[in-house]
Amino acid sequence: MSTVIRNIAIIAHVDHGKTTLVDAMLKQSGTFRANEAVADRVMDSNDLERERGITILAKNTAIFYHDLKINIVDTPGHADFGGEVERALKMVDAVMLLVDASEGPLPQTRYVLSKALEAKLPVILTVNKIDRPDARPQEVLNEVYDLFIDLDASEEQLEFPVLYTNGKLGIATTDLAVPGTDLQPLFETIVKTVPPAKGDANGAMQILVTNLDYSDYLGRLAIARVFNGTLRSGEEVYISKLDGKLEKTKITKLFSFSGLKRTDIEVTELGDIVAIAGVTGITIGETITGIDNPAPLPPIVIDEPTIAMQ
Ligand code: GDP
Repeated sequence: MSTVIRNIAIIAHVDHGKTTLVDAMLKQSGTFRANEAVADRVMDSNDLERERGITILAKNTAIFYHDLKINIVDTPGHADFGGEVERALKMVDAVMLLVDASEGPLPQTRYVLSKALEAKLPVILTVNKIDRPDARPQEVLNEVYDLFIDLDASEEQLEFPVLYTNGKLGIATTDLAVPGTDLQPLFETIVKTVPPAKGDANGAMQILVTNLDYSDYLGRLAIARVFNGTLRSGEEVYISKLDGKLEKTKITKLFSFSGLKRTDIEVTELGDIVAIAGVTGITIGETITGIDNPAPLPPIVIDEPTIAMQ
């Protein structure tokens, strides 16, 4: 059975509450139980975050909501991650900008947002922590409009939907005068705003590697988005290298994401974000493509960071 897939990236300043909100989304959609998350999250976090002992969002999380699969991709909180921003944005068709209702938009997320606007991605604004005694949601909304204008957002981009959330309680509302009861307004906004992943499942295979992961058993894993075609576990494919050479390899295992975990799959769904094993030597920006009809995508150019860490 094929699933309808929506891919969204989340942009938030550290501590504005993205982990808490995504946890609440997972719980309310029934994708995950309360304590399941921690170990996976720690595994997916980088060393610095592990040392500091803070919980962070997994790089890829998938939420099942009715007949939809919503892949949520984390974006780095700082511009000094360079090309990681572009790569994360390649995986998605919209972004959710999450802003603390008291602190407002902070400079560290400006770079990521500017890249999302450049990429013409629709934005959903979530003004979070509206329960804070010092919350000032209307002012924060105006600050976000100012930021969009400063970043040359288009008229269309300025018409972003706005949600007000309390991530801790798992509540969202589109109207501050009407207190919410759950996250349904947020899910509905995602369904309405994030375009369904497009492409042709029967077309020439184009699977773009946007990140790497590692498994003790399977070695290097390519995290990739299925733009076109269908990949099966065990299939022989080409890796189209950054220099344009084609290298043959055999896919040993395939995974998609479910909650914060990877789950085995036999065959990919169009538009999904997957993890692929059997791809030793593959690197970010390369395409996995078919032997019969190779159709590599342009490699992702990895920019040097343009803004120093703040
Ligand atoms: P992240 O760094 O963006 O992933 O932020 P976390 O989800 O880890 O949240 C940072 C802190 O803000 C934690 O102490 C949370 O309990 C708190 N927090 C998250 N959401 C809310 C909220 O809606 N209201 C309030 N008052 N606190 C929140």
